[in-house]
Parts: sequence; C-alpha cells; structure tokens
Amino acid sequence: MHVRDRLFIGGRWTAPAGTGVIEVVSPHTEEVIGRVPEGTEADIDRAVAAARQAFDHGPWPRMTPAERAEILGRLSAIYAERQQQMADLITAEMGSPILFSVFGQSAIPQQVLQYYVDLAASYTWEEERRGMLGPVTVTREPVGVVAAIVPWNVPQFTLMLKLAPALIAGCTVVAKPSPETPLDAYLLAEWMLEAGMPEGVVSFVPAGREVGAYLVAHPGVDKVSFTGSTAAGRRIGAVCGEHLKRCTLELGGKSAAILLEDADVATTMEGLKTASLMNNGEACAAQTRILAPRSRYEEIADALASMVGSLQVGDPADYSTEIGPLVARRQQERVEGYIRLGQEEGAKIVTGGLTRPHDRGWYVAPTVFADVDNSMRIAREEIFGPVLVLIPYEDEADAIRIANDSEYGLGGSVWTADVEHGVQVARQIRTGSCGVNMYVLDPNTPFGGFKSSGIGRELGPEGLVPYLEHKSIPRPA
Ligand code: NAD
Repeated sequence: MHVRDRLFIGGRWTAPAGTGVIEVVSPHTEEVIGRVPEGTEADIDRAVAAARQAFDHGPWPRMTPAERAEILGRLSAIYAERQQQMADLITAEMGSPILFSVFGQSAIPQQVLQYYVDLAASYTWEEERRGMLGPVTVTREPVGVVAAIVPWNVPQFTLMLKLAPALIAGCTVVAKPSPETPLDAYLLAEWMLEAGMPEGVVSFVPAGREVGAYLVAHPGVDKVSFTGSTAAGRRIGAVCGEHLKRCTLELGGKSAAILLEDADVATTMEGLKTASLMNNGEACAAQTRILAPRSRYEEIADALASMVGSLQVGDPADYSTEIGPLVARRQQERVEGYIRLGQEEGAKIVTGGLTRPHDRGWYVAPTVFADVDNSMRIAREEIFGPVLVLIPYEDEADAIRIANDSEYGLGGSVWTADVEHGVQVARQIRTGSCGVNMYVLDPNTPFGGFKSSGIGRELGPEGLVPYLEHKSIPRPA
C-alpha cells in the first residue's frame, strides 16, 4: 500500500490545504493500492507562488545550462538505477503490461531526461549575428512558469517530455498528474530531492480536471503544456488564447497502419503488436485503423484475427502478459460501448467481442472489426483500448486518401518489402510521425500532431524551443 499525506509543493513536502483523498485502485484486483492527498486550488496557488518566486528571484533560471544539466544529470543517474521500481509502480497503478512498462513507462522517460541533459552542452543558447546596423546578440531565455498537465496512460513519459526540456531551459514547473496515476510522480519527487533540485522549481499537485483548469487560467503561469484528449485540449487552447499564454497541445489520434500490396504479413503482424496494441491500446499514437489492399483482404483479416486472438490477456505484472486491464471501469465500459457500436454500424467482429476475459479486473477482449468503412464512428473516434478496425482499400492512392481522411494526424506506419517506396508513402501521410515497417518515438526526433492531434512538438531540439523566448539585442557597429 502506497500512502502519502503530503504534497510536493515548491520542491518540498508540504501539508495539503484540503482534506480530500485520491484513492488509487489496481485495475487488475480492483483493490485500493494507494492514497494521496487531492490537490486543491489553494495548493495550486501555493505551487504557482513558489514557482513564480523561484523563477523571478531564485537561482534556477540564472544558472548556466551546464549547471542545470549537472543537477538533472544526477536525477537521470538515479532514474537509470531505479527504473524497475518505476516500471513496477506504473504497472500497478494503471495496468500497463510490465514488458511494456520497463521500456515505455520508465526506460524511455529516463532516456528523454538524459537526452535533454546532453543537449544542454551542444545547444546554441546564445549567438552573435550581423544585423543591418551592427552586431546583434540573440539569446534564448526560459519562458517562465510552466503548467504541465498530463494523462494517466503514459504518466512518466508525458511528464518527462515537458519537465526535462522546461527544466534544462531554466523554467520552473507546476505539474498536475492525473488522479488515476499520482504515485509515480511521488517517486520522481523523492529522486529530485536526492538529486538536489533547488527549492521552488518543481511542484506536483495531483488533482482532477477542475483544478487543472484553475492551473491553466492562473495569472502566475506563463506557459501551458498539455497532453490529453482533444476535447480538453480545445478548451485549454481557448483559455491560453484569451490570456496569450504560450501553449503546447499533445492530443488524441486515430492513426493508420497501411499494409502495401508487397507487405510480408507475418512480420507485419508482429510489428502491429507494438504499433497498434502497445500499452493495451491506451496509446495516443496507436495505429488502430489497419488498411489492407482489397486483393489480400481475406488473408490479412485472418492473420490479424489470429494474432490479436492469441494475445495473452492477464495480470499486467506477469512478464508473459501482452494485454493487461484497462485503467478504470469507466474505460472498460467506454471501450465495450464502442464494440457494441461497431456491431450496430454493421462491422463484423473477427476476434474478441463483448465477453470479458476475466471476471475481476477491468479487462476487455482484444477485438478486431472487419468490413469497416472509414466513415463509421469506430473508424473515426479514438477508442483507447485494444480494438482494431480493418479497412479495405483499392489502390495506393486510395490507401493514402483513407489514412488522411481523419480529424486526427498523430502517428502511422507503412508496411512494405520496399522501404524506399514506404518512405515515399509515409511522406504523403498528414501526421507528425509515420514509421516504415516499425513505429517508435525517438528522444532525438520531434513528436506531435497535425490537425486535431495538437499544436507544437515534443522531443528532439524542437521540444526545447517551446520553453524558450528568443530575444535580440542589437547595438551600433
Ligand atoms: P483527459 O483530457 O481527460 O485528461 C488529461 C489530463 O488533463 C488529466 O490530468 C486531466 O485531469 C486534465 N484535464 C482534463 N480536462 C482539463 C481541463 N479542461 N483543464 C485542465 N486540465 C484538464 O485525457 P485522459 O483520458 O486522461 O487521457 C487520454 C487522452 O490523452 C487520449 O485522448 C490520448 O490520445 C491523449 N494522449 C495524447 C498523447 C500525445 O502525445 N498526443 C499522449 C498520451 C495521451
């Protein structure tokens, strides 16, 4: 049992302002595994005041990037040593299969942190340019106090995508973890204290959406970085527009995996286990629309049904598990609602369906719908669970048209025997990333959404820019 009675505010353990408690419930056993204080508006006020003070008067933004990198490098070393602890904790919190957790929930966040620690040494923080009338110094300064709001599906990854670049830039941060997954932020807070983070620089205030909205609108916040649903992103973007706050939005997706005529079906099926079904399908970039040439439709439908139907569903702490329980009963019911909807829309279930694989825990049978038309709601809306739709296409142009016929534009993949040709197809997909014969998010390369999948980019040097203000200082020759 993980019980906490303090909040991490201004980089120190502090008594909460309210009396509310967040209970963390295991998606596998449905038993309470943790309790933490529920953050309130008063806690946000204190966290923002600490961040404001640390930004306006404290050492953090005034240190050199190398000095900040030294402290964050210590944090990265601690993280690297204790990754397994983080993976186990997140699996317990939200049901991510441990095999995915050790990589996607802990190794990758640590790598992202290390990436920005390393980038601090090579990044151009200041330069001299020749201006019209004389020399100009161009500096990059931290943007200020950052509000970081993250979802429950990859809680450390989405947090680190914001925290690492913001901190290297010299910003101070108030982060709001999701109420489903507050525990991993506590572990990170402990490691931050060990690493010697100065006072005021980071706060974690776990709370629900109302407190999140309060943080977004807070006058002490200069920039909002949000990962979550498109619906919430629209509201947050509107509030930021009103206040002219800087804003990065990483939102939902309904990405396509295109199997070209020459794709090797067996290796593609192996690849789709990750690309389409990683993290129980609770992944923004999951490629849940599978596009198959009509000429090979039956063969691919059989292979997909057989691959998805044979996935090991069960205890997420077990290393042989491929699909664990969904985060909450609410999510289980939502996904089952889409399975029902798919049947009503006339699509055909070729594996899975509404029978629950286990009596206890929030499990859903991994499901594939065939005979899906891209206009159906199961092909247009984000389901966020292990449910795939198989859509036939006539020729390559038709495949590209269908892949792009979506409100979203986050990820995608092309599967082919001809990698160069696959790259040509990937170039025509209107999404922020599109893999060929694989899908991976790389710390060194930008990630983000076209269209309703968001605004801005995280990862790579591009992911540092949103935490910087560029300033020119011209002077006479
Ligand atoms: P959500 O939008 O309901 O909540 C995300 C976070 O925002 C939570 O911390 C929540 O408390 C908070 N929140 C919700 N409404 C808010 C508001 N109006 N103001 C301030 N804060 C608010 O999303 P979720 O159900 O927790 O997460 C799943 C969604 O996240 C999916 O749509 C998924 O695609 C998306 N996601 C996107 C990415 C990406 O990088 N593009 C990564 C992971 C998840």
